Amino acid sequence: MSREADSLVIKITDAITSVVGMGPIGLHEPVFCGNERKYLQDCIDSTFVSSVGEYVDRFEFELAKYTGAVSAVAVVNGTSALHMALLLAGVEQNDEVLMPSLTFVATANAVAYCKAIPHFIESEENFLGVDVEALRNYLHLNCELKNGLTINKETRRVIRALIVMHTFGHPSKLNDIVELAKQYNLKLIEDAAESIGSYCHGSHTGTFGFAGILSFNGNKTITTGGGGAILFNDAKLAKRAKHLTTTAKLNHRWEYDHDEIGYNYRMPNINAALGCAQLEQLPEFILKKRQLYSLYETKFSAIRGIRLISEPPWARSNYWLQAILLDERSAHLRDHILEVTNHSGIATRPIWRLMHKLRPYKDSPKMNLCTAESIERRLINIPSGVGILAHYK
Ligand SMILES: *Cc1c(COP(=O)(O)O)cnc(C)c1O
Repeated sequence: MSREADSLVIKITDAITSVVGMGPIGLHEPVFCGNERKYLQDCIDSTFVSSVGEYVDRFEFELAKYTGAVSAVAVVNGTSALHMALLLAGVEQNDEVLMPSLTFVATANAVAYCKAIPHFIESEENFLGVDVEALRNYLHLNCELKNGLTINKETRRVIRALIVMHTFGHPSKLNDIVELAKQYNLKLIEDAAESIGSYCHGSHTGTFGFAGILSFNGNKTITTGGGGAILFNDAKLAKRAKHLTTTAKLNHRWEYDHDEIGYNYRMPNINAALGCAQLEQLPEFILKKRQLYSLYETKFSAIRGIRLISEPPWARSNYWLQAILLDERSAHLRDHILEVTNHSGIATRPIWRLMHKLRPYKDSPKMNLCTAESIERRLINIPSGVGILAHYK
């Protein structure tokens, strides 16, 4: 290792420890300092811990209120939320669904659950969102509109939907994406799993298209243990989602009658109780996450050869996960930095392996993904939990 390289690794490690302390510190630890115990106790006392109970209704109501969606439907996780959104969008066997290669595997899996085929699109380097310009050119060259459907000229399959993902909480450029989706008659689904509390052009992420989904996994901005939600701007669609996620059971006091093949995807009441308590703290959490970004920014701006990812000018981000991007020149140091920091108890992580490189998706159609591949080689996530600020002096 050259002296210059060694010095960059030391500078980065020092910058992180100057903010988070000596560790050990996780990547994103949950914080429970509100009404969690009270609501959980209440939930247990009521005996309604499972698929029926008032915390589910309350959580859905509060989520819709917070996000500005017409309705929210709470489900068991973000993956099932995506699956349900795609089914409702009419995604069928052999359809293609456009989605970034740079995402968590859940996005691609949900497409595969519908027996549809993910079609991978490029990301842009500044804010890690969908590269709308590149996508527009790609669709223009490689697709044709026939009877109102967009056809992939090469595979002759219908491209039914477009999923955008707001990486680490930073919103993709939704105005342009909404317009492009309209032009090609694509159902727009927002994978807003990472972006609760993030706003784009003044509106909450997840409310721009046909549907949006949230995740409340343990490592997300707020958690229900495991959980997710689907956001709709159409109350009828939400009602249908609720029906399908509750085994398609018809309402009756004792009969078990189901009018189609449904899913057991409803969020249990005990998880929703946790969610209600977490949601109350969300505004405070986001303030702290934004503060944490400012702290890191102060420390990292003095280091040449890296950049801390910031929110785009068209958005206000929740800063779910903080990320640094190494210059191309220092890309070869990524693994060494991961090694040194993790060895000293500071959890750092690379970005997800790109979807088109994973075994189940390696033969899926894709556009030129050289920017996504470059980001994959150079990005490192650093500790981002709300609790970090409590230790900062
Ligand atoms: C977390 C996440 C999901 C959903 O994850 P679950 O663990 O199923 O709740 C989906 N997409 C992205 C991009 C995510 O980060």
